[in-house]
Amino acid sequence: FRDRKLIVQIIPFENRRQILVTHDVTESERIEEMRRDFIANASHELRTPLTVIVGFLEIAASEGLDAATRSAHLKLMTEQGHRMQHLIEDMLTLSRLESVDYPLRAERVDVRRLVEQVQRDAEALSAGRHEISIAIDGPDVMGSYEELHSAFGNLASNAVRYTPAGGQIRLVWKASDAGAKFMVEDTGIGISTEHISRLTERFYRVDKSRSRETQGTGLGLAIVKHVLLRHSSTLQIKSEAGKGSTFIVCMPKTALVLPQIELQLH
Ligand code: ADP
Repeated sequence: FRDRKLIVQIIPFENRRQILVTHDVTESERIEEMRRDFIANASHELRTPLTVIVGFLEIAASEGLDAATRSAHLKLMTEQGHRMQHLIEDMLTLSRLESVDYPLRAERVDVRRLVEQVQRDAEALSAGRHEISIAIDGPDVMGSYEELHSAFGNLASNAVRYTPAGGQIRLVWKASDAGAKFMVEDTGIGISTEHISRLTERFYRVDKSRSRETQGTGLGLAIVKHVLLRHSSTLQIKSEAGKGSTFIVCMPKTALVLPQIELQLH
């Protein structure tokens, strides 16, 4: 019972005998601790932008500001408001993905359309600062277009956000022995080994300030992980600090859409 937390109850029984009841509460305490951490992190993340907004509102109320300063303050407040919006949207997405009442609505996903859309979104975010290429050579899959768009889109937007201007990003969809793979390769800042296994934890970031500067909520890879779980798929991360990263989504054969056989009756 080492490393386990047990609650022991001694219940008197007839003839001066006793019954010993043990409850193993290790798992429920771990879940409770995760819930507490999540609430603490989320509150902290929301408090920071809110403090900025309230601070500027107080200045605006107490001083006669000139038009230029007022418009600069309004711009900053809008940015902070958007930050709060993104965070709340990501928190709602995560809680929906985890809910048992939210079954996966699987349909045939046109992978070419999906990956091309992910490329367009990434190009809009990059605004010409990166070279973003795609290679599509694999089967369609069964899954939720909307959820896979959010997972693949998060990986591609991370590649843009963590790759300095002038870098290259490649989006690849291809068949593999186990099924099919979606890969996002970048020539960005990379991640050192000790961080890799923790990246899909909620609010885990290698560099908080860089994540915030680029509108990160710290929940992107947690969303990716949950979407992939719902699709019986996995995420592999290969990275080297200073060189770049490759995020690989592995989808199983069971998710693939098999080619339709045309029957010709004579
Ligand atoms: P964030 O909103 O902070 O980007 P994510 O959950 O998407 O949150 O990612 C978690 C962390 O993983 C990021 O803060 C960043 O440190 C690291 N990361 C994710 N993708 C990349 C990438 N392509 N290159 C380098 N670091 C990355």
